[in-house]
Amino acid sequence: MQRLFRNQERRFGFLPGRQRQPDVPDELWEKCAGCGEMIYLAEFEQNAHVCPKCDHHARLSARKRVQFLLDPDTFVERDSTMRSQDILNFERPERSYEQKLEDEAGKAGIPESVIYGTGTVRGEEVVLAVIDTNFFMATMGSVVGEKVTRAIELATETRTPLVIVAASAGARMEEGMFSLMQMAKTSAALTRLHEARVLYVSVLTDPTLAGVTASFATLADVIVAEPQATIGFTGPRLIEQITHAKLPAGTHSAEFMLERGMVDCIVPRNDLRRTLARLIGLYSSQTSDPSTDGMPPMNGGVQAKAPS
Ligand SMILES: [Zn+2]
Repeated sequence: MQRLFRNQERRFGFLPGRQRQPDVPDELWEKCAGCGEMIYLAEFEQNAHVCPKCDHHARLSARKRVQFLLDPDTFVERDSTMRSQDILNFERPERSYEQKLEDEAGKAGIPESVIYGTGTVRGEEVVLAVIDTNFFMATMGSVVGEKVTRAIELATETRTPLVIVAASAGARMEEGMFSLMQMAKTSAALTRLHEARVLYVSVLTDPTLAGVTASFATLADVIVAEPQATIGFTGPRLIEQITHAKLPAGTHSAEFMLERGMVDCIVPRNDLRRTLARLIGLYSSQTSDPSTDGMPPMNGGVQAKAPS
């Protein structure tokens, strides 16, 4: 591993802030949130926004995620204009909920925090839904639940493996009970997907918390997590505020969850595409086996194993 990093060091040539070349414009550099090093943006991009120095996995927009996961030009998006409404006429202190939604859409470049559609991963057909933390910290409102449910239903109807890249800071407070109902709605849709024995792989990214963790993100056949992702129900800061007790370090990390069996494997972002293709390929080989009558065994025929 150390040798790998040394090789990357030569290839990527990141520089401590003090040593940056003064003639290179600031916009060509990205500061790593993990180690603080300045990384040349083009190389950071090429490395799927993973720091070559400390392996920190920076948060990705949904569009970038699709670009990194799917084969080029295969993504066909669905319901791309669906957006939330202020159903409760919720009173916010500064901006109205409507205005907040508009501002978030402008910032994130998408009208809600999830996009979904179909595409291929190394030639394997998938239904893919990706949640984007740039929009309202990926809080789960009614449109998030609806689009995730539609992705699940599409996978069920077409018997196509489903991949959901999850993230969320929690429920969308401005939608009250409508937000909480999305947990039951997505879970019910997944029950039908499981009954149809269609593969579902969940990818937990930083952070996956609250109602999303307690529903569709952890109801998968295989639960994959990105390294160091924060995963849990209540976030560590809130627990500490309420209990006035200091939590041990790392209680909400993907690595902690792997040790305790909540996730099946941790896969570095650069290996994710290959891992998904392998899982889907194993599933497809089961469904195409005539002895299984077009149906995989009840365990999905998939053995999840962390890549070495
Ligand atoms: Zn770093």
